[in-house]
Amino acid sequence: MRLFDTMTRAVQPLQSADGRKYRLYCCGPTVYGPAHIGNFRTFLVNDILRRVLEVADLNPLYVRNITDVEDNTIRQSLEAGLSLEAFTSQWTNYFHEDCNTLNMLTPHEEPKATQHIEEQINLVGKLMEKGHAYQAADGSVYFKVDSYPPYGRLSRLDQRELRSQVSTSGGAPNLADNYDRSSVADFALWKSRKPEDGDNWWESSWGQGRPGWHLECSAMSMKYLGDSFDLHSGGEDLCFPHHENEIAQTEAVTGKTFAHHWFHTIHLLVDGKKMSKSAGNYFTLRDLLEEGWSPMVIRYALISAHYRQQLNFTKNGLHAAQSALQKMEKSVLRLLDIAERRKQDLEELPLDFPALMKGSFSGSWKALEEDLNVPEATGAMFSRLKEIDRSDLSMEQADTILLEIAALLYALGLKLFTAQPKPADVPEEVKLLAEQRWKAKNEKDWAAADTLRDRIKAEGWAVKDTRDGYELEAL
Ligand code: AMP
Ligand code: ZN
Repeated sequence: MRLFDTMTRAVQPLQSADGRKYRLYCCGPTVYGPAHIGNFRTFLVNDILRRVLEVADLNPLYVRNITDVEDNTIRQSLEAGLSLEAFTSQWTNYFHEDCNTLNMLTPHEEPKATQHIEEQINLVGKLMEKGHAYQAADGSVYFKVDSYPPYGRLSRLDQRELRSQVSTSGGAPNLADNYDRSSVADFALWKSRKPEDGDNWWESSWGQGRPGWHLECSAMSMKYLGDSFDLHSGGEDLCFPHHENEIAQTEAVTGKTFAHHWFHTIHLLVDGKKMSKSAGNYFTLRDLLEEGWSPMVIRYALISAHYRQQLNFTKNGLHAAQSALQKMEKSVLRLLDIAERRKQDLEELPLDFPALMKGSFSGSWKALEEDLNVPEATGAMFSRLKEIDRSDLSMEQADTILLEIAALLYALGLKLFTAQPKPADVPEEVKLLAEQRWKAKNEKDWAAADTLRDRIKAEGWAVKDTRDGYELEAL
């Protein structure tokens, strides 16, 4: 498998350094509100990466953290009159529910920053010992950017510009968690206690305070994946300063390469602008569910563009995703019928991935293994389905193709036949007619069944027979 690496700006092969597990870390959500669908674009791309690594036998160990202590979580928990723990747990649960709705696999580890304060304090101690950190007059501890010459490599900060910015800041360090390239300066590792932090402080050798945001990901990735691991990921905005700072503070301690591969997802846009909480131009998953979009349509829409391409989110995109899924379902329904299988079989049958990946959809697998190209993979899938739709197939052939489709759907995290109108949406009268028709059909009273079908149609509904029963679809 190969993937674009932000550090070398080239597509690189993925190999686990220890030959046993592929260790990857994704910067997770900051839990002070619902994640928006832009955040989910990044998390879904990482979910697919983890799935493909799994089926390609690379044995992933996937860690995604929960950021529960930083300026926003603290401020909003105080405003809500809740402890930081109570406040962030609510939003963490909410996030997990959304992840389940979108059929995302649970990471192997999901550490919380507040549960790793000791590890963070230890890291600050080591940086102090090695002369990479200092305590300033405000009591906070900062990383000394000048002490780490490779600083800026990931985001390609020009070294001269970097030096002049750091020195012209007159040594004034930057306490903010997030900032842009124009304010490169020594960054906070430990923030001294402030009245606005409420009860959210811990004891350390440098006095009471709390860790800076960047530190948590170094401490937690090192704990669960080791000093040096295979891949680190996040949205493109994290490249600078977050990942740059993580590299500096970790490598300054270990002297080893922190992550061998850097994987960034381009932002989701809305109306051509970055979807973000601060800009207020965002949709949550639940906004879209309330509009009646099914989770799989939303998942499909969010993964439909290559992770290195901008994806402009529109309702048209959701409609396109819906018809793509319906097209797949149509082909699969025919195959299920020929193979005499039930819909559930698609998810229940054991899948022998290596063999299935070599079958009818090898083009799709090649696209996934070459820089995780989801649009090319689905494009190749549809081309094959078109041919399959036109072929006469034996029961065995249809069965094999179904298994091959199930394997591909697993890698993409898609489930079919979940986008039907909810039973509650179907008027009682139509449900009754459909039941009567089903009964007539079972009694082989074809004339009555046909009349009932017409009556259902007149009410604006189509009834479709399946192996397991029937379904109603709005016309
Ligand atoms: P946050 O909860 O703000 O810490 O962000 C969680 C993840 O979502 C990070 O990896 C961000 O880089 C990513 N992210 C934020 N906004 C977007 C967006 N509009 N499109 C894609 N990813 C995003
Ligand atoms: Zn992080």
